[in-house]
Amino acid sequence: MAQNNIQLTKVLKQLFGFNQFKGDQEAIIKSLLDGNDVFVLMPTGGGKSLCYQLPAIVSDGLAIVVSPLIALMKNQVDAIRGISEERGIAHVLNSSLNKTETNQVLTDIKNGVTKLLYVAPESLTKEEYINFFQSVDISFYAIDEAHCISEWGHDFRPEYRNIQNITEKIGKRPIIALTATATPKVQDDIQKTLGMQKAEVFKASFNRPNLFYEVRPKIDAAKQMIKFINQRKGQSGIIYCLSRKKVEEITQILQVNGISAVPYHAGLDAKKRALHQDMFLMENADVVVATIAFGMGIDKPDVRFVIHYDIPKSLEGYYQETGRAGRDGGVGYCLAFYDYKDIEKLEKFLSGKPVSEREVGLQLLNEVVAYAETSMSRRKFLLHYFGEDFDEKNGAGAMMDDNMQNPKEKIDATQELKQFLDLLKDTKEMLKLNDLVKVLMGKSSVIIKSYGLQDSAFFGSGKERDDTFWQTIGRQAVVQNYCYKEVESYGVLKLRDKGKKFLEKPSEFKIVKDHDYSQLKVEADDLNKTAAGALDETLVKHLKEIRKKVGKKHKIPPFAIFQDPSLEDMATNYPTSIEELSNIYGVGEGKAKKFGKDFIHFIAQYVEENDIDRPEDFVFKNVVNKSTNKVFIIKSTDRKMDLEDIAKAKGMTMEELLSEMESIVYQGTKLNIDYYINDLIDEDLQDEVVEFLMEEAESDSMKELLDEFGDDMDENEIRLMRIKFISDVAN
Ligand code: ADP
Ligand code: MG
Repeated sequence: MAQNNIQLTKVLKQLFGFNQFKGDQEAIIKSLLDGNDVFVLMPTGGGKSLCYQLPAIVSDGLAIVVSPLIALMKNQVDAIRGISEERGIAHVLNSSLNKTETNQVLTDIKNGVTKLLYVAPESLTKEEYINFFQSVDISFYAIDEAHCISEWGHDFRPEYRNIQNITEKIGKRPIIALTATATPKVQDDIQKTLGMQKAEVFKASFNRPNLFYEVRPKIDAAKQMIKFINQRKGQSGIIYCLSRKKVEEITQILQVNGISAVPYHAGLDAKKRALHQDMFLMENADVVVATIAFGMGIDKPDVRFVIHYDIPKSLEGYYQETGRAGRDGGVGYCLAFYDYKDIEKLEKFLSGKPVSEREVGLQLLNEVVAYAETSMSRRKFLLHYFGEDFDEKNGAGAMMDDNMQNPKEKIDATQELKQFLDLLKDTKEMLKLNDLVKVLMGKSSVIIKSYGLQDSAFFGSGKERDDTFWQTIGRQAVVQNYCYKEVESYGVLKLRDKGKKFLEKPSEFKIVKDHDYSQLKVEADDLNKTAAGALDETLVKHLKEIRKKVGKKHKIPPFAIFQDPSLEDMATNYPTSIEELSNIYGVGEGKAKKFGKDFIHFIAQYVEENDIDRPEDFVFKNVVNKSTNKVFIIKSTDRKMDLEDIAKAKGMTMEELLSEMESIVYQGTKLNIDYYINDLIDEDLQDEVVEFLMEEAESDSMKELLDEFGDDMDENEIRLMRIKFISDVAN
């Protein structure tokens, strides 16, 4: 079966049109062709498919490829068919085929035409197929996305468990297993489950030097995202959320704020999903907001950012999803928002699952928390998680994360590490990190009691520190190889030689304290407050002057131009364009265009002269839930519907309806309610009110109006008159 170099390169060129093998491809293919079991760990996009496609084609017999997703199989088969004259060279065998199609596949296999057969694991278990395959010459088995075998992976599929059973029934042949994410634990699982412990392992580096990693506390995340995206106008990005509802919500917020975004989740029908995917690929939409369903098999090379609006359930998922950024080698910015509350939600969700699944889920979540809270090199942390050492000073992409760019001060923790490792040793290396921390903090648990540890000298010996501190010590001891999490028991800490040596002769150990997000939250809130509350009183005074002038120019009272709260919002956010102005509280687009010019010119000049740092992110429109009501009100008044009926139709009280109408007219939209008012209020009285507002009134306050007309009209009638007035004179 062995082939020599020259031939392989030639085949590569002939069949695939590539001049060179990528990474370890050639060595992998050779090893497989030599009859070895092979285990391939290679990041997404590394070129795993070719590692079984090429040998399948040059080998005698049929290669069986197990792959979890029907959609992906189809793509691959189409690609292979594209390189051969023989359509039957590759086939899919799964539940999507009808009887005739299935028979065609089996015939092609029997006739030796087919070299590659993609099967879903559940099809492989069918008795009739097993019998059939026993009569076929099999070249090898390829197990793609092999991490699906392990329940410790992020994508466990129970059907994958049976694979070894079946391949043995069909006949033992070499196996090639491939995955883009496998922690040491998962790798171990895969090899055991497939009975390929002796496999030759090829592990490519998982480092993606061009990706920048950042975690931010999840405060005003939507606002932060809009600012982030606006600084990257026209660039492609993906935003991941955990629920369909969030996807829809975020998409709407982005759209309202002028970002071209489309939603993508399993709740949309296939046509919509395909459409949105195409829009993203063809760059008719910059941003796709998606649940994790998006991205499998999608290869857009120039995705410039991946945002996790919700923190993912596992670091495997996180790595895969962030991995979709920067495929072309350009920078990919990976921003995740972290709030411990989200973790608690996910934990709650897990509590409904069977025990084993829950255990696994919680462990995976723990790692996510550790990653989010760590202050060390995120790249080092992530790569360590996948069993790879990384030099955070000189490694490729070393500076490409928030923690490395803004390093926290290191503190000496030699004494504490000694304390921690002493405890680890003293408890015979049988505890997990959380339990060790509990002992130090003097907290009991079933396990701690069962070992009688509440009587040990260690119990409560670390109380002057807090949980977070000891967690940090533990995590960093692991990452710096003083101890490790045992693969078998997933999480029990064991000493490494470095740790044992340290216990004999402690040498300096420094840590960076983890981010404390509970703390950060308070600070960020405060920050927001000062930023949002920074009302510029001087500017307000100037703006009031301008309002007067503009009023004179248009011959209407100043309050009909913009109301005080609008001026105050301007003096907080400093809008300098009509677009920005129309995002100011109580200012609609119509009014912004009609009266805004003098205001923005003045503000622009004021900002310049006083060297003011404008908040860039204020251009933020909330999705107004009531906007449907507004449209309804405008349409209904156009049709001269009774206000009582309008209110009833929307389940509002009259007062609520009036408030909505006020907000409509103050934002600059016309509402014609003469038909209603004329029936209600005497015409002379109407004229009096208009004249008063036009000539005498200091403001449009209800107080002033009530003082003047309270004897003749009730409050609602006065409000109606005010609505009419603003609508008539200002809009
Ligand atoms: P993976 O399964 O590891 O995510 P794929 O097998 O889908 O990656 O390959 C990713 C891309 O790399 C594909 O577009 C493929 O055509 C390309 N590719 C694979 N091998 C080579 C090679 N030797 N030279 C150039 N491009 C390659
Ligand atoms: Mg692949």
